[in-house]
Amino acid sequence: MDKKWKVLALWVLPITIVVLITWQILGSSTNTQVSQSANTTNQSRNAPVAKISYGRFLDYVKAGRVTSVDIYDGGRNAIVESVDPEIDNRVQRLRVDLPGLAPELVSSLKEEGISFDIHPPKTAPAGLGILGNLLFPLILIGGLILLSRRSNSMPGGPGQAMQFGKTKARFAMEAETGVKFDDVAGVNEAKQDLEEVVTFLKQPERFTSVGAQIPRGVLLVGPPGTGKTLLAKAIAGEAGVPFFSLSGSEFVEMFVGVGASRVRDLFKRAKENSPCLIFIDEIDAVGRQRGAGIGGGNDEREQTLNQLLTEMDGFEGNSGIIIIAATNRPDVLDSALMRPGRFDRQVTVDAPDITGRLSILKVHSRNKKLEKDLTLESIARRTPGFTGADLANLLNEAAILTARRRKDQIGLSEIDDAVDRIIAGMEGQPLVDGRSKRLIAYHEVGHALIGSLVKDHDPVQKVTVIPRGQAKGLTWFSPDDDQTLISRAQLKARIMGALGGRAAEDIIFGREEVTTAAGGDVQQVASMARQMVTRFGMSSLGPVSLEGDSQEVFVGRSLMNTSDISDEISKQIDEQVRKIVKKCYEETLEIVENNRSAMDKLVEILIEKETMDGEEFCKILSEYTTIPEKDRFIPVLQDPK
Ligand code: ADP
Ligand code: MG
Ligand code: ZN
Repeated sequence: MDKKWKVLALWVLPITIVVLITWQILGSSTNTQVSQSANTTNQSRNAPVAKISYGRFLDYVKAGRVTSVDIYDGGRNAIVESVDPEIDNRVQRLRVDLPGLAPELVSSLKEEGISFDIHPPKTAPAGLGILGNLLFPLILIGGLILLSRRSNSMPGGPGQAMQFGKTKARFAMEAETGVKFDDVAGVNEAKQDLEEVVTFLKQPERFTSVGAQIPRGVLLVGPPGTGKTLLAKAIAGEAGVPFFSLSGSEFVEMFVGVGASRVRDLFKRAKENSPCLIFIDEIDAVGRQRGAGIGGGNDEREQTLNQLLTEMDGFEGNSGIIIIAATNRPDVLDSALMRPGRFDRQVTVDAPDITGRLSILKVHSRNKKLEKDLTLESIARRTPGFTGADLANLLNEAAILTARRRKDQIGLSEIDDAVDRIIAGMEGQPLVDGRSKRLIAYHEVGHALIGSLVKDHDPVQKVTVIPRGQAKGLTWFSPDDDQTLISRAQLKARIMGALGGRAAEDIIFGREEVTTAAGGDVQQVASMARQMVTRFGMSSLGPVSLEGDSQEVFVGRSLMNTSDISDEISKQIDEQVRKIVKKCYEETLEIVENNRSAMDKLVEILIEKETMDGEEFCKILSEYTTIPEKDRFIPVLQDPK
């Protein structure tokens, strides 16, 4: 009996290995096929497959521009064919990252009559599939036998089964990134801090000869799109060392133990190639505070994190490896990561100020043709809050619009349209004149009216009743460049401005006729008012913070936090929030009430012209009432460098 099992085990195991390897090869070859086929079809058209956001994709679907959709990877990405009505219905192929195979997406594709195809992640030939099915139980049995044999006969125990992770070394290595510090603009402080790291990599002896310990890890902290990945690449590029990169979310995989073994592999490869730079993107995906989640789902993450810590402790003082990690949530990171000898240096990479934006625009406009009277300064001035990635995207969108309009130089109107599109989405078809359009016009004029007449509100830049993205109409305000501190009066003004639309509907059409148009506004109002009470201590509850960062992404900690607040306090918070909103709404109603005739006139013009800029709006409004002078902060522009 025993012998029979041994024979079975001896036979099944080689088969198991063969089958596993075959699957592996098939799996990876189909995966690469996806991108390759996309590449080859496009090479013939001389353009890489452009990537668009999921939101943009949905807009295209709605606008009827999509002709076919091929979904890959179990719904994680897709190649989309869309036509562009503005350039003779030319067909474009675009790549989209999907949030998964959502049934709503499938049904909306069906509804729009778009042909779509779902490609299974691994397409083994049918025969092999059946064979595979038959073999699966055998593999299990074989594996179990192997495990029991190993643990009986060898002291090493069942560690062998963990070899899984090894075959899929999915980190990227670039021998030469080709990015230099000159390509990263507008983040001079961060660059200065990081210049030292380049020296650590290039001439470690300079530091070790005087007994200095070279730091192992640097944490880049900043919102998405500010150039963290780019900076890390630039460091490697300047130092001329290989660049290993891996994203935190890739660590966390289905099989337990894979994440940890990937970390091990990564460090092994890095040591073979030192000096080098390891870049771990989104480190918060693995590096969150341990023991914080609920249930057992975090074992994998913890193992990975432990492995990372072990590896970081493991290499000697000057092995020539420097680890750079990026995150926008430093607050959730495990404190063990911040200990000396790990990521003990933090470099902040913030969204650029106006001078920073100007220098980023200089980098990205190198290969673009701009009209003479379009200065980069004017673009920098109208893009407060834009990150480096936004600006790069802006210039690209503007270039696309320019080509579509058959012009050969980017002009101001293309920049304007691209800014609008990046902030609010694609422009839709204007509504036909009717009750809805009238209501939307009053709603928007309501926002703009309050924005103009409340002293602490940002001035109106533009009002429009042309739909864009999800919105039926929009009012744009031009925010100050300096938004670091916001006063209570400004917050109140913003709440009133957001309530302006609803107030106008309320007064002109009556309480029963108000619409869902104000849904988004009301949400904003609630969150602003709540933050005034709970985070900024701006209510009569006094200057106490009653909640931490409430957008806690992981459940464990936020549950702990909220339980700190007693029922009594949360009742008081609600009361205060309601009091603020009620007061603001009353003041808003009063302003709308007092300016009805101005509104009627403005709505008349808006319906006819569909878009009105801030100057024109104020000119008409000033015929009816006095508009308060606004305190504006006009930043001085220093020429970068
Ligand atoms: P992050 O990693 O911070 O999310 P990335 O480094 O991936 O941002 O930036 C994405 C792209 O945006 C870059 O490839 C680059 O084209 C552009 N970009 C972002 N920040 C800058 C910057 N400071 N200077 C120049 N380009 C930038
Ligand atoms: Mg990045
Ligand atoms: Zn509104």
